[in-house]
Amino acid sequence: AKEKGKNNFQFFTVELNEVISRKMMLEKGLRKALEKKEFKIHYQPKYNIKSGTITGLEALVRWDNSEHGIISPMEFIPNAEETGLIIPLGEWILYTACAQNKKWQDEGFLAIPIAVNLSARQFQHPHFVDTVVRVLNETCLEPRYLELEITESITMNNVSDVIEKLKLLKSLGIKLSIDDFGTGYSSLSYLKKFPIDSLKIDKSFIKDIHNDPDDLTIVKTIISMGHNLKLNVIAEGVENIEQLMFLEKHKCDQVQGFFFSPPIPAQEFSEFLREANS
Ligand code: C2E
Ligand code: CA
Ligand code: CA
Ligand code: CA
Repeated sequence: AKEKGKNNFQFFTVELNEVISRKMMLEKGLRKALEKKEFKIHYQPKYNIKSGTITGLEALVRWDNSEHGIISPMEFIPNAEETGLIIPLGEWILYTACAQNKKWQDEGFLAIPIAVNLSARQFQHPHFVDTVVRVLNETCLEPRYLELEITESITMNNVSDVIEKLKLLKSLGIKLSIDDFGTGYSSLSYLKKFPIDSLKIDKSFIKDIHNDPDDLTIVKTIISMGHNLKLNVIAEGVENIEQLMFLEKHKCDQVQGFFFSPPIPAQEFSEFLREANS
């Protein structure tokens, strides 16, 4: 038993060392990754549930590191937020996504809004609105073809500042949606005050919608509340036909998830647009 305990302990320290060295690698590598052009954007389609037509797309960043391969944003976005790298990285993502969307429009594909995820720190930055305006000007993308996905974490700051910024963005014609809806807190009071267009139901509620009555209740409630507030409701994380059928039955407007496509590189995404055009 003593031997076993010792082995467990060694096993634990090896794992811990791995975690620490990966964290250090991330921190060091992340600073250089932007210069080294190691970030990539993948795109995932959004569909109108009734017509089945493509209605938009979401830009999701990846870090393609020569040594460690593709690294998920869940692993590096928190660090980019802590270090402030999210400001230049976020601007690069915004620019790249807008430029790509404009390029598709210039190629004659159906014009649809591209959704870009924002971190709270990016949104709070005093130059944020100016940056968005400049990026739209530089890329020549019409504001109505840009959608910003924000989370309830932006409300951690001065709420009247947040509302003012959202109103400014909205007045430019940019679309706004609340991401991960239902996972934060105080969601309901802000829904009325924020000039948003869409609610995105978090995938954690969609996962078991077809066999967990509680999740189904939550999803049904979000959909009807969203509709009463004249908001578009979208479900993320749709992986199978059962989930899709429930969402259709309960009048969800849009869907997104692996059932349709994972996030993919721009080149591959063109194929979806080609289909939509034909
Ligand atoms: P999110 O914005 O809620 O994005 C949805 C996540 O679910 C994405 O993970 C997407 O690839 C994944 N997903 C899509 N369909 C399915 C599905 O059917 N099933 C399951 N299980 N997952 C699905 P990803 O790309 O790893 O991004 C994770 C999170 O990282 C995002 O969550 C977002 O919070 C953040 N993130 C990603 N890209 C950016 C970005 O450009 N800027 C910022 N600030 N955050 C980003
Ligand atoms: Ca999102
Ligand atoms: Ca989510
Ligand atoms: Ca998220």
